[in-house]
Amino acid sequence: MAADKVVYLDNNATTMVAPEVYEAMAPYFTELYGNPSSMHSFGGQVGVAVDRARQQIGALLGCEAAELVFTSCGTESDSTAILSALKANPDKRHVITTRVEHPAVKNLCENLGVMTGTKYRVTMLKVSEDGMVDFDEYVKALTEDTAIVSIMWANNETGVLFPVPEMAKAAKERNILFHTDAVQAVGKIPINLQELDIDYLSMSGHKLHAPKGVGVLYVKRGTAYAPFMTGGHQEHGRRAGTENVASIIGLGKACELAAAKMEEENTRVKALRDKLENGLLTTIPRSILNGNKEHRLPNTTNISFEYVEGEAILLHMNRYNICASSGSACTSGSLEPSHVLRAMGVPFTAAHGSIRFSLSVYNTEEEIDFVLEKMPAIIGQLREMSPFWPGE
Ligand SMILES: *Cc1c(COP(=O)(O)O)cnc(C)c1O
Repeated sequence: MAADKVVYLDNNATTMVAPEVYEAMAPYFTELYGNPSSMHSFGGQVGVAVDRARQQIGALLGCEAAELVFTSCGTESDSTAILSALKANPDKRHVITTRVEHPAVKNLCENLGVMTGTKYRVTMLKVSEDGMVDFDEYVKALTEDTAIVSIMWANNETGVLFPVPEMAKAAKERNILFHTDAVQAVGKIPINLQELDIDYLSMSGHKLHAPKGVGVLYVKRGTAYAPFMTGGHQEHGRRAGTENVASIIGLGKACELAAAKMEEENTRVKALRDKLENGLLTTIPRSILNGNKEHRLPNTTNISFEYVEGEAILLHMNRYNICASSGSACTSGSLEPSHVLRAMGVPFTAAHGSIRFSLSVYNTEEEIDFVLEKMPAIIGQLREMSPFWPGE
């Protein structure tokens, strides 16, 4: 492996823009710079391209193009969905979510009083040691007063998949709106929204090889909706502001590619992930897998190396240009272990030394072999320096 080669295993934080995506976007920075809302055909052709992108995204999600609203990111989609549902149900004062959501949902739900001027009761469902929710507990939490359920499809830190189709069905049976943050799921697992009872679904471009700064909110036909921003009539009045055209074109292309590579993601990428995971767990003593092994994304593994600090591990990996995460990128910078691992009850000594490896279709077996060659010594050296290391 060339010394300066970056081994990028941090794809749940962000992904490389696919070369085909970049190529599809390029003309929209140069010759095709018109405004899609303009009356002239110079702008109009850009509007046509935006609609084609909407079709490509609809094809990946199994929904109508008209059910999709372009936003600036996954976070905006999450906020728009949840606040829409609350506005649509002014008499209901209860929200259900989980303890392991991305901060985009978690911090919003914890601050609903500030955001809306109304006090809400928020049920944050517990998770078990392997990061799963108790379905019966979920069903019991659904009440007449529940305005919305917001539950992520795939966890960004562990890759654990929640039974979102079944959970949406249970909400529908009680006439309760259901939102899923599917930012990590879209493009990695098959999704067919026309067969599901999901009212709102959030996704983000930069987690599936499109650029940063573009997202989508799916709103089921007929479902309540309130714009997050007020202004022009773009997106049929659902999201004001001139479209981020080039990124939207890129996201359309990325969805087409994701559909074509879904099979590879679930075979070759999954096999690489499993090789990495099994290799680390067998060669490094006192290493523990975090999260349910079955109900999981094909690209993610989260492993705790007891008695070492995640940050120290990342620094040593960085010397070999190996990129991964400890906790989640959004929570690093603080030395608190991730809220996801804490919710799972991972012991302190293990939660601090957890590393998330997240792969993509651009990873190779050579890269995985390289990581497997370097990791045991990295962990071993750090443990030798640790006053707490009790030995194997
Ligand atoms: C990355 C991520 C988000 C936020 O998306 P942005 O486009 O970065 O705002 C939300 N939820 C999950 C699960 C994510 O992984």
